[in-house]
Amino acid sequence: MRHATVTDLARNLGWLCEDNFRASSPATIEQLLEFHDRAYVKALQYADSTGRVAPDVRNRYQIGTLENPLFPGLFDRAAMTVGGSILAAELALDGHVTFHPSGGTHHGRPDRACGFCYFNDPVFAILRLLESGLQSVLYVDLDAHHGDGVEIAFFHDKRVTTVSVHEDYRWPYSGSKSHPDEGAYNLPVPKGINDSEFEYLVEHTIVPVAEARPIDAIVVCCGADCLAGDPLSTMMLSNGALWEAVDRLVAFDVPTVIVGGGGYNPWTLARYWTGLWGRITGQALPERLPNAAIEILRGLECDLVDDEDIDEAWFTSIADSPYPGPVRDSIKSLADNVVV
Ligand SMILES: [Zn+2]
Repeated sequence: MRHATVTDLARNLGWLCEDNFRASSPATIEQLLEFHDRAYVKALQYADSTGRVAPDVRNRYQIGTLENPLFPGLFDRAAMTVGGSILAAELALDGHVTFHPSGGTHHGRPDRACGFCYFNDPVFAILRLLESGLQSVLYVDLDAHHGDGVEIAFFHDKRVTTVSVHEDYRWPYSGSKSHPDEGAYNLPVPKGINDSEFEYLVEHTIVPVAEARPIDAIVVCCGADCLAGDPLSTMMLSNGALWEAVDRLVAFDVPTVIVGGGGYNPWTLARYWTGLWGRITGQALPERLPNAAIEILRGLECDLVDDEDIDEAWFTSIADSPYPGPVRDSIKSLADNVVV
């Protein structure tokens, strides 16, 4: 539903057409095995086809749990997300900036599911870029949660640098410090980070990390749970601050893949990702959305957001009002501690 809303809005605004839209195919088993263990892939396939998981399989592969539930079509959907990231990388190599909104399953591990991520599609985007012969890929994770699966996957691979901005003291509770020798940078931000603080981190850490090495390609995870109004974090970012950050990365003018990620407020997510698509395709964002787009947004429902917290602007506009504020010392010291 999240991705359909984004494509519906983008089409409604005239920003999506045959020329700039591609449907992906599911990754093949052979492709999945480039990162995932055969036994895990088989176990997931079996669980999906039977709708059941034996206790030992549940324990071993973490499937059929509250965190990683079974649901009809699970395997195909997870494989499709990986196929989308592989296609996105191929299109990026052809010279496009590619946005794959259903990507961003950044917690997936080679041998188990984790955090509602059954496979790890950003890993496949990076692998496809490396397979083409590129020597240096930058992965930037702007989701509210630590991009742990991607960091672990490439921790000892000198070709990949990872940077994750995520809320401190939040699941999965990793990513508390950087490992510059391994090219793994972490920015665990305090509660309530505002636009000014985020912009400070972009300019003083993410951009310098990117500029300190030759970068051949960039993969960005744009989870929407860092937006103000999302029920799963206290981050207070406007979509404009995130669009600016992505613009900053796109300006490096190398093959760039943007994937989605988390996001549990359907209105803020739809406006962020639709506007992101508008920005990278050079559209002028309207002050007020056309009525048909407003109807799409009004038609969404969400149990995680209380009615009294719903902002009328979430229906009628696409750009948030900015959330500026003082830059706290804790943010400055986070940036000071990053040695590029
Ligand atoms: Zn997240």
